[in-house]
Amino acid sequence: MNVKDNYKKYTAPTYAKVDTVLLGGGNGELYAEDSVNFIDFGSGIAVNSLGCNNEEWVNAVCDQVKKAVHFSNYYYNQPTAILSETLVKRSGLGKVFFSNSGAEANECAIKCARKYSFDRYGEGRYEIVTLKNSFHGRTIATLSATGQDAMHTYFMPFTEGFLYAEPNDFDDFKNKVTKKTCAFMLELIQGEGGVNVMDKAYVKNVYEYCKANDILLIIDEIQTGVGRTGKLFCYQHYGILPDIVSLAKGLAGGIPIGATLFGEKVQDVLTAGTHGTTFGGNPLAAAGANAVLAQIDDKLMDEVIKKSDYIKSELKDCKNIKSISGMGFMLGIETDNYADVMKKCFDRGLLVLSAKTKIRLLPPLTISYETLSEGLKILKEVIG
Ligand SMILES: *Cc1c(COP(=O)(O)O)cnc(C)c1O
Repeated sequence: MNVKDNYKKYTAPTYAKVDTVLLGGGNGELYAEDSVNFIDFGSGIAVNSLGCNNEEWVNAVCDQVKKAVHFSNYYYNQPTAILSETLVKRSGLGKVFFSNSGAEANECAIKCARKYSFDRYGEGRYEIVTLKNSFHGRTIATLSATGQDAMHTYFMPFTEGFLYAEPNDFDDFKNKVTKKTCAFMLELIQGEGGVNVMDKAYVKNVYEYCKANDILLIIDEIQTGVGRTGKLFCYQHYGILPDIVSLAKGLAGGIPIGATLFGEKVQDVLTAGTHGTTFGGNPLAAAGANAVLAQIDDKLMDEVIKKSDYIKSELKDCKNIKSISGMGFMLGIETDNYADVMKKCFDRGLLVLSAKTKIRLLPPLTISYETLSEGLKILKEVIG
């Protein structure tokens, strides 16, 4: 079988694919057909937080496979109980709902916000402010939440009730708030939107404003969460406690999972029959997530920060780099012709991502200095 031909013939053409067939991987490395090896600065888009084949993670997941991969959510199970406790205690929030993806975690956040408001104020207070240039998912409602016009075509009618404010502009946020506003949803670092970091003062202002007006603050941590920025949650850099936090990507180290964390105010809003899922938070995904979270400690977070500084210092003399944005292992590099840079990196055995017109780096949290410096050598030479 020719894998690429097979895809072209039988798989819906929804991705502009990179020309390689992957077979396996290690910590910051991927192995492809024809004996080609890559250094991996993408982690499967922030999913493989511990790289591939992390020993403790593999053991935990394999042990769980031998017991049971799935039970219905109608029954209790141990790995999911452990995961709930860990997430709640380490976030400072109150309760959690598990699903299978980022879009679902955000759908749940949206439903929770609207029901909270309905329970408390009755009908009509359903508007949610989000940011221009945001990305919140591919379902109809999360596309609506996404503040990019290009995402609001073809699939009309979209879910109504979303207003888009300019990022880092507190006045514009207040202009978008009406008496119908129930929530404000944002990424603290816009991932797909170009690795754009929200200012500390801006976040503090919207946090206080939301608290004073009973507008729920929803932080989409699907890309920034699970240690990506050098803290378990990116909001911990900002000194705020959101009402709702959505997680997915890196949480289970590669197994599909979504999680919506609820603060005290909203933790009992979604009651039996108002929300649910068949697969969400099954014991396999929970076992994977427990193994990931066990490794995300202060020591690993210190290393992510140090290695992030190392990346920035290695790249600081590249004359063709205009700016570097982001935090920890979520970095955006502004340079001319990002597509050309990506292609040349690929040809030399380095996988990087893009975000709008930037090169985006999301290495595994566990990547070694050795692998990191090998990859940076290629990147520096390619960018120049
Ligand atoms: C990836 C991403 C999503 C969507 O997650 P899926 O698992 O692809 O549905 C939502 N929000 C942010 C910030 C993301 O990075």
